[in-house]
Amino acid sequence: MLAGNVGLLDTANAFAKALNCLAGGEVACGTCISCRVFESGNHPDTFYVAATETKSIGVGDVRVQVIDEMATRPFSYRYKVFIIDKAETLTPAAQNALLKTIEEPAPFGVFLLLADKVESMLETVRSRCVVAKMDDISPVNEANTAEEPLMREVIDTAHTLDILGAMMLYKKFEPFKESKETAVALLDKLYERYGAILRSSPGYSGHAIRAARAITQTKEILSHNGNYQLAIELMLLKIGAHIA
Ligand SMILES: [Zn+2]
Repeated sequence: MLAGNVGLLDTANAFAKALNCLAGGEVACGTCISCRVFESGNHPDTFYVAATETKSIGVGDVRVQVIDEMATRPFSYRYKVFIIDKAETLTPAAQNALLKTIEEPAPFGVFLLLADKVESMLETVRSRCVVAKMDDISPVNEANTAEEPLMREVIDTAHTLDILGAMMLYKKFEPFKESKETAVALLDKLYERYGAILRSSPGYSGHAIRAARAITQTKEILSHNGNYQLAIELMLLKIGAHIA
């Protein structure tokens, strides 16, 4: 879910385009057939979910435009990407109708819900989304804290790490192992940093959203007292998309 008031649709479009780009990079190449079709506005696997009968997006809209559509595989590309602009206009019943689909989507389904205020969405929907806030652009505090060099290293190197590299980098996470609160606070800061990357360079939204999702999952594992080392190493590999 993208929340806020700054360039939500632009960011969603950049992400959707990059997801199906045949060059497979973090940013859409702009020249492959998928990118060119996207720019023409007729991409067969990108769906803009909108209200058809009233100003609200109703259950019927969700059934026809999302649920029925998810019953078949993508037409030509890897993902079916559903962009739900003004997601806060989904009626509560429509949000409920979406739940199952966004909770256990087929692997080809990607849902981008855009909302001015994340609070306007049902908690059950929010809890199934990675929330990237696009407003409230406060400068990231660059103060030279103990965590700062580590976060920089993750952001600069995670996309190049193999398993051995992830194990090496994990060593620097070891000092945060003793207290769950400290570890979670570190992950929150890392999440914030990827949020800042998302806001400042929408072209990297695919990478930043993937990283945000990996960090959220890792916090979840830690909150259930999962294995710290394994969780962090997996997170680093997921940020680099070496593991889905
Ligand atoms: Zn492309």
